[in-house]
Amino acid sequence: MRIPATGRSEAEIMAALEEYGVHDLPWREGGTFAYVYEGGRDVEAVVKAAYMRYLTENALDPTVYPSLLRFETEIVAMAVDHLRGDADCVGNFTSGGTESCILAVKAARDHARAVRGIAEPEIVLPVTAHACFQKAAHYLDMPMRLVPVDADTFKVRAEDMAAAMNESTALIVGSACQYAHGVVDPIPELGALALERQVLLHVDGCIGGFILPYFRRLGAAVTDFDFAVPGVTSISMDFHKYGYAAKGASVVLYRSKELRRHQIFTAATWTGYSVINPTIQSTKSGGPLAACWAVLNYLGDEGYMRFAERTLAATRRIADAVRATPGVRLMAEPESCLVAFTSDEFSIFPIVDAMRRRGWFVQPQLGYMGSRENIHLSIDQSTIDVVERFLPDLRASIEEARGSNEAAIPAPMKALLGSLSADSFTPETYRQLMAAAGTSEGLPEGTTAINEMLNAMQPEVAAKVMTEFFNDLYVSPKAA
Ligand SMILES: *Cc1c(COP(=O)(O)O)cnc(C)c1O
Repeated sequence: MRIPATGRSEAEIMAALEEYGVHDLPWREGGTFAYVYEGGRDVEAVVKAAYMRYLTENALDPTVYPSLLRFETEIVAMAVDHLRGDADCVGNFTSGGTESCILAVKAARDHARAVRGIAEPEIVLPVTAHACFQKAAHYLDMPMRLVPVDADTFKVRAEDMAAAMNESTALIVGSACQYAHGVVDPIPELGALALERQVLLHVDGCIGGFILPYFRRLGAAVTDFDFAVPGVTSISMDFHKYGYAAKGASVVLYRSKELRRHQIFTAATWTGYSVINPTIQSTKSGGPLAACWAVLNYLGDEGYMRFAERTLAATRRIADAVRATPGVRLMAEPESCLVAFTSDEFSIFPIVDAMRRRGWFVQPQLGYMGSRENIHLSIDQSTIDVVERFLPDLRASIEEARGSNEAAIPAPMKALLGSLSADSFTPETYRQLMAAAGTSEGLPEGTTAINEMLNAMQPEVAAKVMTEFFNDLYVSPKAA
């Protein structure tokens, strides 16, 4: 494809944008229990207007855009207050949870080198911590230790974290809540451990950090996880999830400037302008900042409380419905607004396609380290209105999966897949696998076979398969 020889009209372009989107997830109908966090048409209008107003401003240099600096410091101050921090707490606005967590890990690494003289700082995290911490360790080339969690509660035990720590441990991580099962790690115990061992503790509140304080105020039992807990040194919290901001909105917060100093990258050793980057991105739009500030001011504490009340009720309603459905069980008692369920009797993967046929998107999660494969639901404002339509369809889809009770791939094939080793895996192995699955021409109709294949493989092999898949996906454009 070439850049078009001559330009097209705005009308033509807008029509093309619509046409390109026809197969996208239909989130406007509230059918998606992942990916989209939608606060309603009025919220969307405010967010878009604020985003467009600051779209062209560049947050690269806050000294020439005092507006952007002000948005950022006000957003961070609200976040600190929300998470019971004091006047010493500081933080930065980032593009998302992944960037916030990578920055917290980078700050911990450089803090350990500078303050504790550790040559090769390490990170210790529960296996339930979001994969972005593994990405951080990978990008920052840090040794990482994954700690198994309690088989029933999916929470990490402080003593298991302690056992994985050593002299080089710079940072330990806990989640409030973790994404997969929606439960909160015992942060007060991790805080005590961090203080005892003189290491830093990051709490990943990317998905739960914003909504859990509201749940607590509504009387729900919420484990303390914020700056009120001694030993917590940094927290990440996304606004583009339950803050209903435009995507590209998160904060990373530190207990003090002493810690945040290690996050900042500065370079005066090149021939261009002075580079002072608190975050990974350098040139960046002011749009996400303005939109985040706008939604916080538009909804206000009272508006978010109203949202939280409905979200909590809908989550309990969905969890009760799962409990009442034969053949499936909750992975854990939901502590936020995430619900995961599985079955010990039949494959749950066909539920994804059965729901898709009924107009719903639910998210499959593969099994790993004592966490059985399961279906994940994130409940947000757009899904609350349709819960009463959703539940009968969910039940029917579960019945369908249970009734067929036939694995999409035969047992000998599963055994074969399970015996593949990552060491001998090549792109050629991938092509053979895809041919055997009948997908050499791209994705098959349904997702069941693919999910079952991935789930049957060793995780390292599954990761290689998925890498090849994406490496093939982003190639020359296909017509719709
Ligand atoms: C979503 C999420 C992240 C990563 O955030 P992105 O915004 O997708 O980069 C990290 N941790 C938890 C617990 C999350 O739910």
